[in-house]
Amino acid sequence: MRLSRYFLPVLKETPAEAQIVSHRYMLRAGMIKQASAGIYSWLPLGFKVLRRIEQIVHEEQQRAGHIPMLMPTLQSADLWRESGRYDDYGEEMLRISDRHGRDMLYGPTNEELITDIFRSHVSSYKDLPLTLYHIQWKFRDEIRPRFGVMRGREFYMKDGYNFDLTKEDALHAYNRHLVSYLRSYERMGLQAIPMRADSGPIGGDDTHEFLVLAETGESEVFYDSQITDLKFGDRAIDYDDHAQCQAVLEEFTSRYARTDETHDEAVFNQIPEARRRSARGIEVGQIFYFGTKYSDAMGATVQGPDGKPVPVHMGSHGIGVSRLAGAIIEASHDERGIIWPEGVTPFHCGIVNLKAGDAEADAACEALYASLMALGLEPLYDDTDERAGGKFASMDLIGLPWRITVGPRGLKNGVVELTSRRIGDSEELPPEQAIERIAQIYGKLSAE
Ligand code: ATP
Ligand code: MG
Repeated sequence: MRLSRYFLPVLKETPAEAQIVSHRYMLRAGMIKQASAGIYSWLPLGFKVLRRIEQIVHEEQQRAGHIPMLMPTLQSADLWRESGRYDDYGEEMLRISDRHGRDMLYGPTNEELITDIFRSHVSSYKDLPLTLYHIQWKFRDEIRPRFGVMRGREFYMKDGYNFDLTKEDALHAYNRHLVSYLRSYERMGLQAIPMRADSGPIGGDDTHEFLVLAETGESEVFYDSQITDLKFGDRAIDYDDHAQCQAVLEEFTSRYARTDETHDEAVFNQIPEARRRSARGIEVGQIFYFGTKYSDAMGATVQGPDGKPVPVHMGSHGIGVSRLAGAIIEASHDERGIIWPEGVTPFHCGIVNLKAGDAEADAACEALYASLMALGLEPLYDDTDERAGGKFASMDLIGLPWRITVGPRGLKNGVVELTSRRIGDSEELPPEQAIERIAQIYGKLSAE
């Protein structure tokens, strides 16, 4: 993309309404614009990041054997009356009535709708196990929408639902979700720690929340510092292997890590004092096993092996896709702006032309631009005639992990400058080598 043709409305001023760094940088980098309280337009740069996060979630869910679909945002109130949640859900549910006076709602989540789909189409245990998911906008009329996309009213969420014949199979689905979530967050450059949590209105006993440690997080968390040494990494996993998935769950949940809702001071104090940590965290996902709660209420049964009807065991599993855009910035930024992890960056690298209009500089930039695109990469080429200082400030703000700077002085010696946004180091090297380095960095990632 050429910057001169792009829509990147960067702000110089710090917007007064933004209280935390991710909100400030998302506004300043022209990623989002508030439409009304807790509701945002995703401008081109923000939209690219949202899509990259979504893509990682899709890939990892499908790798785990979960099947994508799409359910609507507007739902009929009738299904929620059946489950009993129409009255229970409270004021966070946006209730609407259509022209015929029928009660509708903007879905805050989808347990009822998916259970209805399931009971309409699945009747035999032979069709199990089954896990369906979608990524769709949700609406919760939060009393205090704040922090930009982190606590919106309209937000983008991946929610998945497993249907299993037995509790044991449903717990395996739970474990599969845990593993696929660990992989997803790591690909986004994040460490998200699974913590014992409270199930709230969804119901059920088994639930973990995934938290990214950050001072601005809304949750208070308590954990054993050893847990931060755990990485899933690029180890192989067979999602059909119950024992393997169970071992990952045990590895990642055996050390103390809880949110304030389930925190137990006595158990916490058994950890050696030097390892006890209390901090704040951002919830970026949650997994639940809730047994037969919805299948009992809504009559979702299958014919079991002995011919008798059995209610299915279910769980639901959510990832805050739009919240993640903010959470990643909270975890990765400096005083000059965002620092995107390579896995989610909106453009793979920036090209800064220090002397737009100079024939040699223009030609060198065009050649770099074309070569990177030929490799399947997306560069953002600043071909404008703004001053160098302004160009660098914008590139630093929008946070592309790599920048190639091209100027007449370097070109005389046959070199361009390659700069890492994270480390800040610059290195002079011939353009072909700069391209090779960037290709290597992203080639390695896509081979994961
Ligand atoms: P919270 O405790 O933060 O209100 P929740 O536990 O009610 O969230 P879930 O039902 O578990 O949320 O939804 C799954 C994920 O969706 C959450 O882990 C979070 O990342 C995201 N999410 C929930 N509410 C919001 C919101 N208002 N704005 C943005 N993302 C949200
Ligand atoms: Mg939650």
